[in-house]
Amino acid sequence: MTGRPHAARRPALWLRWSACLLLVWLSIAGAAAPAIAQSAGGAPPAIAPVDDAWRQALPRDAEAATQAYLDRLPAAAVARANAYFEGGYCLLLWNLLAGLAVSALLLARRRSARIAAWCLRVARLRMPADAAYGALFALFSFVVTLPLSIYQGWFRERQYGMATQDFGAWFGEQLIALAVSMVMLAIAVALLYALLRRAGPQGWVWASALATAMLALLMLAGPVMIDPLFNRYTPLPAGPVKDAVLAMAHADGVPVDQVYVVDASRQTARVSANVSGLLGTAAVRLNDNLLRRCSLAEIRAVMGHELGHYVMNHLYKMLAFTALLALLFFGSAQWALQYLLARHGAQLGTSRSDDVASFPLLVGVFLVLGFLATPIQNTLIRSQEIEADRFGLNLAREPHGAAELDLKLTEYRKPDPAAWEEFVFYDHPSTRFRIHDAMRWREAMGTP
Ligand SMILES: [Zn+2]
Repeated sequence: MTGRPHAARRPALWLRWSACLLLVWLSIAGAAAPAIAQSAGGAPPAIAPVDDAWRQALPRDAEAATQAYLDRLPAAAVARANAYFEGGYCLLLWNLLAGLAVSALLLARRRSARIAAWCLRVARLRMPADAAYGALFALFSFVVTLPLSIYQGWFRERQYGMATQDFGAWFGEQLIALAVSMVMLAIAVALLYALLRRAGPQGWVWASALATAMLALLMLAGPVMIDPLFNRYTPLPAGPVKDAVLAMAHADGVPVDQVYVVDASRQTARVSANVSGLLGTAAVRLNDNLLRRCSLAEIRAVMGHELGHYVMNHLYKMLAFTALLALLFFGSAQWALQYLLARHGAQLGTSRSDDVASFPLLVGVFLVLGFLATPIQNTLIRSQEIEADRFGLNLAREPHGAAELDLKLTEYRKPDPAAWEEFVFYDHPSTRFRIHDAMRWREAMGTP
C-alpha cells in the first residue's frame, strides 16, 4: 500500500462530496426562506374567544357549525399554519436525502468496511465490535445531519414561536439524545447481526421479530428511563382537573390513581398529553402547556381522546402493524441487499448482508422504503386518532371543548387541506375533519 495514488485522488473526491453536501444545504436554505419570510415570528395570532351564547347560537347542522368554528381563525393564523405545515412536506424529502448522504459517505471509499475492520481489531469479538460500529454510526449520522437538525428542530421552531429554549439548552438536549441513540443503536446492531449470522436465509424473519420486540421494550422502558432525561414529571395537585381526569379513567376501567404533569414548557409551547402503558400498566400524563392554556372542557376533551387510545389497545395494534411492516421492510431489504452487494460488493468492501459493514446500505434501503410508505403509515396512525377522537367525544361529552382545542392546534397543523393532502401527509386528522366530527356528535346527540 504505497498510498501515493490514493492521496492524489483524495482531494478531488472530497471536493465532490463537499460540493454535493453544500448543494443540499443551500437547497434547504432556499426551500426554507419563503416559509421563514411568511412568518412574523413570536406567538401565533390569537383566536378571539367566544362565550356560551355564541355556542348556543351555532346552527345545529354539523357542516354549518364546523364552518362557523373555522371562520374564527384569523387569515394570518391560517397562512402561518399552512406555511409551517407545508414546510414539513419538503422536510420529509430533505430528511431522506440527508439520511442517504450519511449512507453514501460511509459506503464511499470502503469507509464502512474499514470502520468495521477497525472495530473488530479493537474489540476482538464480533458482538462488541458490531456494538461499537452501531454507536459510531449514530455519532457519524448526528454530525452529518446536524445542519438539518438545527434548522428543523431549533431554528424553524423558534421562527414559528413554538420552541422556548435558547440554542445552548436545545443543543445540550441533542447531546443527551445522541448518547441515548448511540447506546440503543449499539444494542440493536449487535443483536441484529448476531441474529443474521446465525439464522441464515431466514434471517429477515428473525430480524423483524427483533425489531418488534425492541419497539415493545422501548414502549415499556421509554417513559421510565428515557423521558425523565429531558423532563420532570410531578403528580398533579388535587383539584377539578385531577378529579375530572380520574373520573373518566375509572369510568372506563383504566387502572390509575394518579395524574402526572410534565414540564414540557421547558422545550415547547405545544399542548399535549398521553396515556401510556403495556401489560396491565397505565400512566396518565398531561403537559403544563395544556394546564395553562386550556379550559376544563378542553382538557376533558383531550384526556377523553388519550384514554381512548389506551382503552382501544392502540399500542398493541400499532405493535402488530409494526411487526407486519418490519417483515415487509426486512424481506424487501434482504432482496435489495443481495442484488446491490452482488453488483457493487467489491467497491464497498463487503459482499455479505450479515456483515455489519453493509449496515449503511441496509439503512439506505430502509430510508427509501420508509419514505415510500409514509402515506400508509400516516393513514394507519390517523385512523387510530379518528377512533380516539370519537371515543373521547362519547366519554367526555365536550364537543365544544374538542372544537376549541382543534382550533388551537392549527398553530402547527394546516387546518383545511385537500383530501389527497390529508391522506399523504397527515398523521392526525385536519382541523376541519376533527371539528366536523365534534359538531356531528353535537347534532346527533342534540346537545347545546
Ligand atoms: Zn391521539
